[in-house]
Amino acid sequence: MVKKGFVYLVGAGPGRADLITVRGAEVLRTADCVICDKLANPALLNLAPKDAEIISVPKRIDTPVGGFKQQEINQLLVKKASEGKIVVRLKGGDPCIFGRCAEEAAALADAGIDFEIVPGVTAGIAAADYTGIILTDRQYSSQVVFVTGQEAEGKQQSNIDWKWLAKFQGTIVFYMGMSNLAFIAERLMENNMAADTPAAVIADATLPGQRVVKSSLGRVSEKCKQDKIEPPAIVIIGAAADSDTRLDWFTRKPLFGKNVVITRDASGNASFAAKIICRGGNPIDFPTIRIKPLTESNEFLRAVARLGRAAEGRLDQTRLRRAEFDWVIFTSSNGVSIFFEALQSLGKDARIFGSAKIAVIGSETATTLSKFGIKADFMPSVFTGEQLGKQLMCFTNLQGKKILLLRSQLARQTYGGRASMGLVELLEQAGADVLNVAIYTAVEQKSESGWLIERIGKGEIDWLTFASPSSVKMFFEQVPTQVVNSANAKVASIGPTTSEQLKNLGIRVDVTAIEHTIDGLLDAIEKTYL
Ligand code: SAH
Repeated sequence: MVKKGFVYLVGAGPGRADLITVRGAEVLRTADCVICDKLANPALLNLAPKDAEIISVPKRIDTPVGGFKQQEINQLLVKKASEGKIVVRLKGGDPCIFGRCAEEAAALADAGIDFEIVPGVTAGIAAADYTGIILTDRQYSSQVVFVTGQEAEGKQQSNIDWKWLAKFQGTIVFYMGMSNLAFIAERLMENNMAADTPAAVIADATLPGQRVVKSSLGRVSEKCKQDKIEPPAIVIIGAAADSDTRLDWFTRKPLFGKNVVITRDASGNASFAAKIICRGGNPIDFPTIRIKPLTESNEFLRAVARLGRAAEGRLDQTRLRRAEFDWVIFTSSNGVSIFFEALQSLGKDARIFGSAKIAVIGSETATTLSKFGIKADFMPSVFTGEQLGKQLMCFTNLQGKKILLLRSQLARQTYGGRASMGLVELLEQAGADVLNVAIYTAVEQKSESGWLIERIGKGEIDWLTFASPSSVKMFFEQVPTQVVNSANAKVASIGPTTSEQLKNLGIRVDVTAIEHTIDGLLDAIEKTYL
């Protein structure tokens, strides 16, 4: 029997990726095929399985070249589901608010294909919430109406009762109203709505580039033209639009509107970007490195075998003592993830550590470790290799202890030439027997850099961030140092080793994180604005 397909008509939310519902995210993870709208945040596609087919279907009205007619989208949904696929139709906001969901669902029903509609946060509500506009403040608005600023193509008569709308005692929310804003305002005023009625326009709501214009019905269209406000935008008319500025929480975030370049590997950048967005900033993705596991090396496999032998207790007592590691040390969350991936492919699990204690360099590494059900036994109060060594030897007597150090191949080089001592030397000096195994390395990831050099030169970049010496090295192989030094862009570093690498290249370091984590880096940047 042919597997029966299924279609989820999913609201992607208003813009910001994490405003999708839990159910929406859950069904995306099961998709064989995602058919997505222009307004759905592309970052959501990362939730879909790696091998899912992704089809982007911009509307023909928006994209004359390569655009789709609604009927073609309906047919595509039916076709993919008929092939037995789980199809997620990802639509901006809520799928049923000015979203042509009815036509898609009807086409599926006609074809006998089962579907589910997953609601989403609609742009009208999100735009108000992200501006501190209270759509139903009990003081002045007991009703809200959602209106389209563009009625269906080819419709002879307007469905909008302008007379009624002009008298409406409440909040009016227009979708798709930007290109018709002057017309909308005129119709309302011609029907006796006062020209000084408050009006607000919110473009790119919930996104780092959110823009707000607050004005009056009589002037709003002109003001939007002056401020070059572009769709997508929501227009709110009524007393609610004249909101209490103290409630405007989003644009007041310290990083709001700041362009922050992130230079880690692709997956490191993805989690970094999410943190920047949470603080209102605009992450600019420029990966400089690719993490390459070295878990197929003999060195690593021998270390795992040694760890495993001791834990499984296959050796006799004397040899067991010789084989066992007293401590295993991780100096990055990449190292932890890569270690557990390798364990899994070797058919082993966390029990391999046996009685060995585990030390980590900092809180991010500890968090990653906890995802695998393990609580770190030791973490220094300052998250550097040097402090890890110094504090671990105060915490426990390392004399004669066997330590397995699992870290980046590049870590060995970065201490070269520094006045302070490296982690291995410190541990050895304390009497430990250290097996230092490179578990991964960072290789250069070259991208097109002309656009970034241009934006830095034009002063459009607020921050360049560096989370490791290797990303510094790789970044400045692609972007000339003088471009950065002669521009307004500030430079932020995660810790002393990274700052030293920057200084060695002659780069001015504006801030170095006090806590050497991504959150610490962002705290340091934020502090400069307080
Ligand atoms: N189904 C969507 C609306 C689709 S109609 C929803 O529920 O939100 C497209 C209109 O939605 C745009 O013209 C604009 O008015 C509004 N819109 C969508 N995303 C927006 C955003 N991030 N900021 C402001 N308006 C947005």
